[in-house]
Amino acid sequence: MVKIVIDPGHGGTDSGAVGNGLQEKNLTLNIVKKIGNLLAEYEGVSIIYTRTDDRFVELSERATIANRAKADFFLSVHINAGGGTGFESYIYNGKVSSAAIAYQNVIHQEIMKSIGNVNDRGKKRANYAVLRETNMPAILTENLFIDSAGDAAKLKSEQFLLQVAHGHVEGIVKAFGLKRKVAAQTQTKTNVAPTQLYRVQVGAFADRKNAERLAEELKKKGYPAIIV
Ligand SMILES: [Zn+2]
Repeated sequence: MVKIVIDPGHGGTDSGAVGNGLQEKNLTLNIVKKIGNLLAEYEGVSIIYTRTDDRFVELSERATIANRAKADFFLSVHINAGGGTGFESYIYNGKVSSAAIAYQNVIHQEIMKSIGNVNDRGKKRANYAVLRETNMPAILTENLFIDSAGDAAKLKSEQFLLQVAHGHVEGIVKAFGLKRKVAAQTQTKTNVAPTQLYRVQVGAFADRKNAERLAEELKKKGYPAIIV
């Protein structure tokens, strides 16, 4: 079982970066929930969230959640600010395992592939608390700039946020060699091709409404989705 902690940056009284009518804390939670739901389609993975609703969680508490769970991997999702454009990823700038470097390489690459025409700001290293205090390989992603009009327009698109989530998941799948669960198939007499069925787990959400909203969202995009 691969234990993965997914951490939506900020929350509650800490909105994170703001701009163009967007708040970082809401975008990170949205993306992380999408990541969790996509990851739930894979075998042998257990997902732990540092928050699933709009609440304040201390940085060291986020690391403690991962350390206590003896997680195999920690992923923190953020949105950038400060007048640039594009995507960048971080690992700790102190001593890290070779696994941490390898995971950053593959996850960064898969995100860039998934998000299309976005400026690649590179694979970076920094002394961020959640990277420093976690005992396992950890990565932090900065997904575009909330205060740049072009980036913000992308961040307002649910389809783009799904691509961001998808890229993170493809990277994690490659990093840990995860195998997709056998897709639930609709047995019909008309012998239609089996379709990928997305299961939206209510347990991962603060309330059932959120699960229903995501199921609706997936349906709109043409994916059959059920709530379990
Ligand atoms: Zn942030």
